[in-house]
Amino acid sequence: MNILVINCGSSSLKYQLIDSSKEEVLAKGLCERIGIDGSCITHQPMGGDKVKTEVDMPDHTVAVKMVIEKLTDASVGVIKSLDEIDAVGHRIVHGGEKFASSVVLNDEVIAAIEECNDLAPLHNPANLIGINSCKEIMPGVPMVGVFDTAFHQTMPQKAYMYGLPYEYYEKHKVRRYGFHGTSHDFVSQRAAEILGKDRKDLKIIVCHLGNGASISAVKNGESIDTSMGLTPLEGLIMGTRSGDIDPAIVTFLAEKEHISADEVLSICNKKSGVLGLSGVSSDFRDLGDAADAGNEKAKMTLEAYAYKVAKYIGAYTAAMNGVDVIAFTAGIGENNAQVRAMIGEYLGYLGTNIDPERNKIRGEEVILSDEGSKVVTMIVPTDEELAIARQTEALVK
Ligand code: AMP
Repeated sequence: MNILVINCGSSSLKYQLIDSSKEEVLAKGLCERIGIDGSCITHQPMGGDKVKTEVDMPDHTVAVKMVIEKLTDASVGVIKSLDEIDAVGHRIVHGGEKFASSVVLNDEVIAAIEECNDLAPLHNPANLIGINSCKEIMPGVPMVGVFDTAFHQTMPQKAYMYGLPYEYYEKHKVRRYGFHGTSHDFVSQRAAEILGKDRKDLKIIVCHLGNGASISAVKNGESIDTSMGLTPLEGLIMGTRSGDIDPAIVTFLAEKEHISADEVLSICNKKSGVLGLSGVSSDFRDLGDAADAGNEKAKMTLEAYAYKVAKYIGAYTAAMNGVDVIAFTAGIGENNAQVRAMIGEYLGYLGTNIDPERNKIRGEEVILSDEGSKVVTMIVPTDEELAIARQTEALVK
């Protein structure tokens, strides 16, 4: 089955065409600056070079048309016609409490997703535009929605409630939802497979450390807690997001800086995290280079980052009354040996010791902890597109 996986943002559209029978990516690409001057599509057939084409894409429907054009192109295409796309899998950021698993998209479901727009005003409307554009261009092709929040719907109420008046939960659904669910699900499942165990028998902590970052506690195959909340702003220090802060800071800074609460929140989302703390960059490669060159703020930022991850690992170990596996994933978790080692320094009490030689490996499935460790620490590269393709296939087959 050929499955087109779509991740649609407000001005971008990422895609992968995956042959689900072989679990092979046939082609992938990205449409950028949709609706803005200078829009372009970068397309790459597997095994071939990236081809960047500047083309006017006034809206997402035109972008989807361009994607189909590239996929069926005589020189850079990988299929002959639209008929060879059997299904489309859409990444959807927020499914609220309505969606605890992936779902076939029909008009009723699309309306229910629209009702979640308030919870993710920057993301869900863009996801819906992608869905509607695909519907227009590929009317007969079945489509599936895969939600970032779905895997965490198993969290117990004690984990997802904020200490706020209960009426705000009832009236506005203010609660913790968590994100990156597709990745936490995929990585925890894969970690169990690598160890030759059933996920249902394990307590796993997944550290998804990318530009956006979150940690989850997966007990007996279910997410029982995760660090992101109502929005992806809560939790760890991230590339540009602050993670947990005292909420009183919002109005305090608004008053001191003569800016609105909205502007403070925008700073918390876009100018904070390791970027704001270090003043260097949101990218951990730049941050590592600066720290190596003696930049004290960069060093402090890395320390604060690792400390926060370690604190969450401790909290989730307590939440699960133990831990069997700690899995690192996403850009930093998979590639940054320095950060993994810094986190590892806090984990001695768990009886896990990251082997410095193994820790040099990047981007591969590997067990990092040494033979005597009680808790297995490992790298498990995430693959959210493959996870979306699998779930799409399972629902449309
Ligand atoms: P993601 O959002 O998962 O793409 O992760 C992005 C983050 O991963 C950035 O901070 C990158 O600096 C970091 N990253 C990606 N590749 C590497 C690498 N080879 N070494 C260190 N950090 C990396």
